[in-house]
Amino acid sequence: QASENVAVPNNFVPNGSAEVPIQGEKYQFQTEVSRLMSIVINSLYKTPEIFLRELISNGSDALDKIRFRSLTDPAALGSNPDLKVTIAVHKDQRIVTITDTGVGMTKEDLQKNLGTIAKSGTSEFLETMSGDKADMDLIGKFGVGFYSVFLVADKVRVTSKNNDDDQYIWESTAVDDFTIAKDPAGNTLGRGTQIAIHLKEDQDQYLDDKRLQQLVTKYSEFINFPIYIRRTKT
Ligand code: ADP
Ligand code: MG
Repeated sequence: QASENVAVPNNFVPNGSAEVPIQGEKYQFQTEVSRLMSIVINSLYKTPEIFLRELISNGSDALDKIRFRSLTDPAALGSNPDLKVTIAVHKDQRIVTITDTGVGMTKEDLQKNLGTIAKSGTSEFLETMSGDKADMDLIGKFGVGFYSVFLVADKVRVTSKNNDDDQYIWESTAVDDFTIAKDPAGNTLGRGTQIAIHLKEDQDQYLDDKRLQQLVTKYSEFINFPIYIRRTKT
């Protein structure tokens, strides 16, 4: 469903400059999360592109959630009724942003879902993965999830706005901690989540919007929301 973008949303700009450090609280990744992250990074480095599949599917899940909520509470959509994912490339900053107008995450959601509570099945998964011998079938079945973003990113900034909280920023370079801060810019998203991916030096391929278009088409086959790619000027 990927299409050449026509409607450029006003929130495609990466939140602040992702270069500017944020002032916030530091949290340690839960041990299981750290282990999962290193397994994902060490076993999937040959197919880093799957991060797009994972982030698009997370965006789609978040859109499903707000759509479902709006069935009983139409006001939940507020001033942001347009349910979509927008992908934009910022060549100068070497950042790719993936923005959805889904349900968004509160500060607590960011803290728990992206770092301190491993998703169900993680410990079983880790137990079955013996030593450093990667079992690809098992990884596939488990679903690698959000942390696959660190296959291509050396820094990730997640900005999110849920109806029940202010807009918050989560940021990490993967190693062992992440930072959460209230967004000094206020509520720029309206509602939803923006993942700003600061690409590793050898991952320039994702700055090429033709390449992105190809991958997005491949990974959005079963996604029921429009996905826009913001074309870069050349
Ligand atoms: P899974 O999607 O299998 O639950 P992930 O690692 O992909 O695992 O994501 C972990 C959790 O983080 C999700 O369950 C969700 O609660 C939250 N999350 C991730 N991305 C988003 C997003 N774009 N919008 C809202 N919540 C998200
Ligand atoms: Mg997921």
